[in-house]
Amino acid sequence: MTIVVAIDGPAAAGKGTLARRVAADLNLAYLDTGLLYRATGFAVVSQGGDPSDENLALSAAQKLTPADLENEKLRYDEAAQAASKVAVIQAVRDELLDFQRRFAEQPPVGKKGAVLDGRDIGTVVCPDADVKLFVTASTEVRAQRRLKELQDRGLEAIYAQVLQDMKDRDARDSQRAAAPLRAADDAVILDTSDLDIEEVIAQAKSIITQKT
Ligand code: C5P
Repeated sequence: MTIVVAIDGPAAAGKGTLARRVAADLNLAYLDTGLLYRATGFAVVSQGGDPSDENLALSAAQKLTPADLENEKLRYDEAAQAASKVAVIQAVRDELLDFQRRFAEQPPVGKKGAVLDGRDIGTVVCPDADVKLFVTASTEVRAQRRLKELQDRGLEAIYAQVLQDMKDRDARDSQRAAAPLRAADDAVILDTSDLDIEEVIAQAKSIITQKT
């Protein structure tokens, strides 16, 4: 029996850091599912295409290889915005679903299970996950964190623009018809607005240990 931990939430809520740490500390494999959407969106825009074009986006999703997920440029906002455009297309989501489910069901040898983070892991990808966490924080706190992250990478960024981009992406993710961002009914909500990351990690690990 392997353990599946689903971690969902909006951008810059702290899910990625949390998921990575939980995976390392509990010997679980980790999949950042946002990378699949980022790589798909980025492939379309880097060929000069429109990420909202269903044919282009689906064809990019079908051609994804593990090497595509390694591209540094996927971390930038251009890829994030393109990701949230391909992510509204049901055919793209269906194409990426199998890979995510296989990862959850058959984690690499030696691992006790898998942690997946994204927007729809607890609701669609792994509705039977052993533990579901929904990690969130206020839009302003998330925009501040993203701003700091960009500045730490030496990039120029202004708060008002980062906040607006965050709001646009949140709206696309939560208002879309296909697998919108929402907490599963049985998810534990972790609001990280006033917590530091170590506190969030400690809470999450204690929830996972209790439930598994
Ligand atoms: O998590 P990350 O910011 O990398 O995700 C980029 C975009 O990919 C999200 O804004 C969302 O539109 C999409 N996504 C999704 N479902 C997932 C993971 C990401 O729709 N499971």
